Amino acid sequence: MLGETCLLCERESIAAFRLCRYHKIASERIREAYSVWQTGYGDFSWRNYLKKVISLPETGQWALDVAKLELSDLDGSEESGR
Ligand SMILES: [Zn+2]
Repeated sequence: MLGETCLLCERESIAAFRLCRYHKIASERIREAYSVWQTGYGDFSWRNYLKKVISLPETGQWALDVAKLELSDLDGSEESGR
């Protein structure tokens, strides 16, 4: 069987994550930053956090891809291509 490709790009994905190593790292950073945000802002929902990440100009392209993916998962993943 061929290796799975990343949900967000053409690179080979890491098993169980469905993301390549770059998008996986971006995903981890987003989750880590969310913990920090929750500490500072209290009841900041995951959805609102993702929207914030997407709107921030300093968000990198990898993190932006991941945040959009997570948000579309929350919204019922109408764009899942599988
Ligand atoms: Zn990727």
